[in-house]
Order: sequence, then C-alpha cells, then structure tokens
Amino acid sequence: MARPLIARIDLAALAHNLGVAKAAAPRSKVLAVVKADGYGHGLTRVARGLRAADGFAVLRIDEAAQLRGEGYTHPIVLLQGFFQPDELPEIARLRLRPVIHRQDQAESLARAHLEHRIDVLLKIDTGMHRLGLRPTRVAEALATLRNSPNVGGITLMTHFARADEAEVGVAEQLACFKETVSDGSLPRSLANSAALLRYPETHADWVRPGIMLYGASPFADLTGADLGLLPVMTLQSRLIAVQRIRKGEAVGYGATFVAERDMSVGVVACGYADGYPRHAGTGAPILVAGRLTRTLGRVSMDMLSVDLGPAPDAHVGSPVTLWGADLPVEHVAAHAGTIAYELLTALAPRVRVEEI
Ligand SMILES: *Cc1c(COP(=O)(O)O)cnc(C)c1O
Repeated sequence: MARPLIARIDLAALAHNLGVAKAAAPRSKVLAVVKADGYGHGLTRVARGLRAADGFAVLRIDEAAQLRGEGYTHPIVLLQGFFQPDELPEIARLRLRPVIHRQDQAESLARAHLEHRIDVLLKIDTGMHRLGLRPTRVAEALATLRNSPNVGGITLMTHFARADEAEVGVAEQLACFKETVSDGSLPRSLANSAALLRYPETHADWVRPGIMLYGASPFADLTGADLGLLPVMTLQSRLIAVQRIRKGEAVGYGATFVAERDMSVGVVACGYADGYPRHAGTGAPILVAGRLTRTLGRVSMDMLSVDLGPAPDAHVGSPVTLWGADLPVEHVAAHAGTIAYELLTALAPRVRVEEI
C-alpha cells in the first residue's frame, strides 16, 4: 500500500467559492488569483475549477505560459509585472498584462520594441508601502504610459494592507486612491478577498480574490464556512501505529509531551516535510476516525502523534483529517501561530493529490 497521505482537491468547491465572490461583487469582473501554484492546490487544476472567472492573476511568466498552453484565453495579470525589460517580448507574445509599479518600468516599456500593444495595470501605493507609485508620481507614470506606442489599456490598481482588520479596514487607503485617480476614465482594481467580502465600496471594475476561492477566510475571527465558502483542500492520512503510553512517559523529539496518565497515542503519516506546521506542537486540532482530538509533542519530518483519548476505537489504518472538510484549516493555522494561506501554499510536492 502507498503512503496514505493524500490531499483531496474539490474542484466543485472552487466553482462554488467563485460563485460566492461573484454574488458578493455582482458588478465587477473577477480576476482569480492563482499565484503560488494556485495557493498550493496546483495551478492548472485550479484554473479548471475557476474557468468561469474573467481573468487570472499569477506571479511568473512561466505560470502564465502554462495557462496559455492549456488553452486559456482569459486576461492574465502578472502581479509583480516584469523583473527585466527583456521579458517584455514574451509578455506581448502571450498577451499578458503586467503590473507596472515603478516609473523606470513605465519607461522601459515605453522604449521597448513590441509587436503589438499590451494592456497594463498601474499600481499605486496608497499606504501599504510595498509595491507601487507614490500618489505624487502617478501623473508622470500615466503620461509615460499614455504616450507609448506599446501600451493599450491601462487599469489603475492598489492593494490594501489591513482590509482583514475590522477596526482599521480600507477607509484611508480608499480615500487616498480616489483622490489620486480623480479623473475616473480608467478601469480600477482594488479588492482582495477581505475587501471584496467586507467593503463593497472597493469593488470597482475588477476584484482580485485569492484565499476565499480556496475556501479559507481572510479574517482571523471567521472560518471559510462562516462566510459560506467550501474548503477546496482536505489533507487526509491514516494511523500507521498505535502506542500504549504509561503515565510519565514522553512522546516524540525533545520529550515535550509527557503523559499525565496512561493513554493511547496514534502515529499519523504526515510531518513537516509534507507541509504540516512544525510549530503546531501539542494541542493542534485533528480528526481521527471522525473524532476531534489533538496533536501531541513535536511534529516530526514524516510523522506526528495524536491523543487517541477521544477516539478509543481508532486503530492502525484509521482515517485522519489534518485539515479541510470538517476541520477548518484556519483552526490548525491559528494553533500554529500562522494563517491558512501559509499552510495551503506550503503543501509539499511529495504529497499525492487527488481531484474529487
Ligand atoms: C495575493 C494578492 C491578492 C489576493 O489576496 P487574498 O487575500 O488571497 O484574497 C490580491 N491582490 C494582490 C496584488 C495580491 O498580491
């Protein structure tokens, strides 16, 4: 029998979650963000589930080329634009839409020799201070782009730093954006998942949902299920050993868990080399034979241990759910001091994937 660890990817859940995004932003087009190998779910697999989206957003040209190779004719946005001007002919050939986030990129594009015009997004830094032009530099960049024979359509974009935080939200950045782009003639794109779900005033022409399409919540205090989303990835395995541990005995590297009473401990075929967070330690929620229980001790490279107290009938071969259907990935992430984004994108290539 093969190693029992498997990530089940539910393509119907992707389509459902895209529907939730469209229903929440009915007047906007949806740019489905499929960077980081479709947030760990597999780029081309995810594109199939999201083919009803109006466009895709990726990071790298080779990801975009893969989508074109699969026959997708959707607009494809390169979220960090081009890294070197010599990428521009390929970008034009594949009809990709780079994000322009520095003035020198606008100038390189203007100087390039391209077979035809390309559409671009001009990114404005409205307060996150990561990528984008300062508001005072936007007019100059727009002039450079508009005067270039290489540039077709221009979409104005920005990205929110705190759309997931109820007390802060988007107000300041949104006000800055509106002030900067007052002429209103160009299409706009602002909203990530959090803004899409919480701030309709950000929807504009294109929304850019990522995490919600995969069924996870962008908000710390809500799960995807709370938002009507369905988990796309369910990470499942089985027990490969059961140990009777006596009071006072320790479990795993570093002996960080010591039994307070005699107990049964299950060993699960899943470790940090599969993408399970090593920082989870004792107490992360996990389902064994359908019962909610907890992890025990340090996560090893290829295994982790679980408390079989709540699942006394569990045995070698009993099914284990690490996250997904019936166990929100957000809960595991919170226990490990991280976010669902990190767990999903960290799924290791060695984990077998099955589409359902
Ligand atoms: C990753 C990304 C998104 C999607 O963010 P989510 O929080 O996953 O919805 C949107 N816009 C940009 C610019 C991004 O880099």
